Amino acid sequence: MEVLDTLKETGVDIARHGGRGLEPRSPIDGQPTVGLRVTTQDDASAILERANAAFLRWRTVPAPVRGELVRRFGNELRNHKAQLARLVTIEAGKITQEAQGEVQEMIDICDFAVGLSRQLHGLTIASERPGHHMRETWHPMGVCGVITAFNFPVAVWAWNAALALVCGNAVVWKPSEKTPLTALAVQAIFDRVAADFDDAPDGLNAVLLGSQELGRMLADHARVAIVSATGSTAMGGDVSRRVAQRFGRCILELSGNNAAIVTPAADLDLAVRAILFAAVGTTGQRCTTLRRAIAHSKIADDLVDRLKKVYDHVPIGNPLDEGILLGPLIDQRAYAAMESALQQARKEGSQVFGGGRVAIPNLKDGYYVRPALVEMPGQNDLVRHETFAPILYVLRYRDLDEAIALNNDVKQGLSSSIFTNDLREAEHFLGATGSDCGIANVNIGTSGAEIGGAFGGEKETGGGRESGSDAWKGYMRRSTNTVNFSRDLPLAQGIRFDAVT
Ligand code: NAD
Repeated sequence: MEVLDTLKETGVDIARHGGRGLEPRSPIDGQPTVGLRVTTQDDASAILERANAAFLRWRTVPAPVRGELVRRFGNELRNHKAQLARLVTIEAGKITQEAQGEVQEMIDICDFAVGLSRQLHGLTIASERPGHHMRETWHPMGVCGVITAFNFPVAVWAWNAALALVCGNAVVWKPSEKTPLTALAVQAIFDRVAADFDDAPDGLNAVLLGSQELGRMLADHARVAIVSATGSTAMGGDVSRRVAQRFGRCILELSGNNAAIVTPAADLDLAVRAILFAAVGTTGQRCTTLRRAIAHSKIADDLVDRLKKVYDHVPIGNPLDEGILLGPLIDQRAYAAMESALQQARKEGSQVFGGGRVAIPNLKDGYYVRPALVEMPGQNDLVRHETFAPILYVLRYRDLDEAIALNNDVKQGLSSSIFTNDLREAEHFLGATGSDCGIANVNIGTSGAEIGGAFGGEKETGGGRESGSDAWKGYMRRSTNTVNFSRDLPLAQGIRFDAVT
């Protein structure tokens, strides 16, 4: 079978992992792929102990040497890009272009982390006391638990792991139960690279296969210093409460409900192309998917007409086939959620264009849909809710403050865009009184971020930042150091505390 061959090419030992308990299915045809053994709680405890022992050694390895491991791993990802992308397509249903993009993102973050391994800079700070200096130093934290969602089965792990590893931590990964095979493939590649690297201790990165229970275990476990959790807001709420109970550290990357404002000063051709990729790409299953187009009433009709034309021509089908832009939804539940949202929209008097299931020959158990455009009379609870499917709600506005208020009037705060050639509009949107999201873009869609920037969002998106910029600080502990190299002991703030002798 083809999946088994691809797994073997990446080095996965199927005899070791195969079994029962976890029965992933491919969204392409709805059929089971490869049954796997679930990690028991006892095995998971042993894996966490081993990861902690690995951390105790790894933290003493110089950061640039840790970077060298990540560099070699990135090179192996390059060598296995095609196989990993194929597994991403088979498990998550992404079209080949996007699946390859996801693996490229892993490679990019490895490159970024290699450079970072020589730049884990602290500050030197002027001391108010003579003969003293102050500085900040950054140190490894411990085991980093990484919980990931189905829609980015490998890139999100890589954002976390590449940084966590150069920062001197060990990693234990709980992938989505819907995409365990890609995780096993990545782990097999990592294990080979680590085995060839003298300074890499056993168990530096490990995978736990199973459902939410294992995610909860990571959240509860005292050995896990950092829990980086990507998924729904409901999951993040549970994880963050558990981690808070034990005063651990959380990095949360949760649901989004992203909007684009299209103003009368927009280049509509460009806006339509950007909206298509952001709203329809990945079958609407990105956290940064565009879910709301907030169009000025002067151009809204024109925008909707143009979108309808391109929506009508989106090639839908097997994501492994060249030329396809819209693959399947992940499963029947996702399809039911989309249908129910569209039904609700109709009940509320909105105009629904598109939607509905598409039959693809020989793939009758896959959930393929037409993307939907929904013209809403206003922003209501339905629009405020993240339905993880290709539904784009169109809202209208008259002045920019109203549009920005609509952009911000949702519980999530991940990504946002404005399409305009008017500098004043753009800068207002990017400023303190503009978009309240972690990502705010101009003349580009809400999805498809580069790894160089910090990725994440506010409010119910969780507040975490991953990937580029200074997100690495989330994986290290800061130590403020004051050193007295004088023979005196002046106290800060001029306090005198001398006993009379
Ligand atoms: P999900 O919340 O159902 O599952 C995500 C992961 O969390 C899985 O590994 C799952 O097993 C685990 N999990 C679920 N409940 C848990 C709990 N109570 N405790 C511990 N672990 C638990 O999400 P999904 O359906 O896989 O992914 C879609 C969601 O993820 C969307 O809401 C999307 O916006 C979000 N997402 C966010 C980002 C981001 O960076 N902000 C990226 C990707 C996906």
